[in-house]
Amino acid sequence: MPIDATQPYDADNIFARILRGEIPAKRVYEDEHALAFHDIAPQAPVHVLVIPKGAYVSWDDFSARAPDAEIAGFVRAVGHVAREHGLVEPGYRLLANIGGHGGQEVPHLHVHLFGGAPLGPMLA
Ligand code: IMP
Repeated sequence: MPIDATQPYDADNIFARILRGEIPAKRVYEDEHALAFHDIAPQAPVHVLVIPKGAYVSWDDFSARAPDAEIAGFVRAVGHVAREHGLVEPGYRLLANIGGHGGQEVPHLHVHLFGGAPLGPMLA
C-alpha cells in the first residue's frame, strides 16, 4: 500500500529496523550518512537500495529538512555504490518513489539503483 509522503516518520519501518541491525540485509556499503543493501525482490541483475541514515520519510522530507552535509553525503554514497558495482559504463538507473502517486511503499527515503543489463524504457 503506497504511503502518504507527508506522514510523520515511523521509527518502526522496515528500513529503520535494518539500520538498527534488528533485521538482516545484504549490505553492500555503509558510511556516516548512508547504507546500501540489496533489494529483497530484485527487478534487475543489480538492484540496490541506498538509504540515508537519518529519519526521513521521503525525498521531499529529506530535501526540505536534511542538513547540507547529509544531502551531500547521501548523493556521494549513491555514486560510490554505482562505481563500486562497475555500472558507470555501460550505465544504470536511479529511481526514487515518492508518496502515493509515486508508489512508495516503505516510509524511509530510498533510492533504487538498477543495473547489470539494458533496462529498456522508463517504468510506467
Ligand atoms: P518502494 O516502492 O520504492 O517503497 O520500494 C520498496 C522496496 O523495498 C521494494 O523494491 C521492496 O522489494 C524492498 N524491500 C522491502 N522490504 C525489504 C527488505 O527487508 N530488504 C530489502 N528490500 C526490501
